[in-house]
Amino acid sequence: MLDDLAPDEDVQLSKHLLSRIHGCEARLVAEEASPEPFTVTVPIARGTIAHKAVELGIHWPGEPLPLALVDEAMASLARTDHWLTDFLNTCSEADRAELRSAAGDRVAKFFECFPRLEPKWRPVTESTQIVDLVGGRVRLRGKVDLTLGVARGSTAGKVVIDLKTGAPNAAHRDDLRFYALLDTIRVGIPPRLVASFYLDLGESRTEAVTEGLLDATVARTVDAARRLAALRTGAVEPVFRPSYACRWCIARPTCAVGQAWLADEAEATGDLADQSDPT
Ligand code: SF4
Repeated sequence: MLDDLAPDEDVQLSKHLLSRIHGCEARLVAEEASPEPFTVTVPIARGTIAHKAVELGIHWPGEPLPLALVDEAMASLARTDHWLTDFLNTCSEADRAELRSAAGDRVAKFFECFPRLEPKWRPVTESTQIVDLVGGRVRLRGKVDLTLGVARGSTAGKVVIDLKTGAPNAAHRDDLRFYALLDTIRVGIPPRLVASFYLDLGESRTEAVTEGLLDATVARTVDAARRLAALRTGAVEPVFRPSYACRWCIARPTCAVGQAWLADEAEATGDLADQSDPT
């Protein structure tokens, strides 16, 4: 893999990038080549605001009131050097109100579903994980919404929790497995359990962390790092993996594979309905 990197080039992998590489590689290549700047919108911003508000609420001395926490979170992020700072300082009043409402919904659901977290449970919020490999040429990075518990000696004890809105999705399980791998490398002891907590459903989906799970995640991560380096240098052709995501792909207007897949799908299902981007 290092042969595909320039001497001053590193690879950084996050859960989002892993899932993009294992999705349609042609879409990833098209997006990386696109001059379109990243634009913040309310649907993109609401999760980050909600997570910040939950983080504040877990450590809040008094009763955690959702909208008060959202206001504090928005004010805090507007003051700091964050990718949302500019948006929060320039967005319209309508966007601000919509953001407050959407984030408030998530925060209210969290505090409806979770008991007050006792210090003895060792709650940790928005915890950054960094693992450097191959002399720092490959960096794995994650940010965990919430962890509870801690390893005791060589006995696993930590539970890693990702807060999710919407319906369960297999990609969420992959995200958590990646976090489990990072924690295992970083701490030396794997977490005991990983869990996606679905705020809209009010329930969690858990998975025990096993050797097999970690082995599979290592293979998935190494494969992604290799493919990313080779794709960026042009050593391999990107693989097309058409799916419903073709509807929102920037390459769709010129992608024959994606257009053919969507046409087949529309013919098979008669479905021309939802054209909105779920992200
Ligand atoms: S339109 Fe579909 S197949 Fe084509 S690049 Fe985009 S996601 Fe991939």
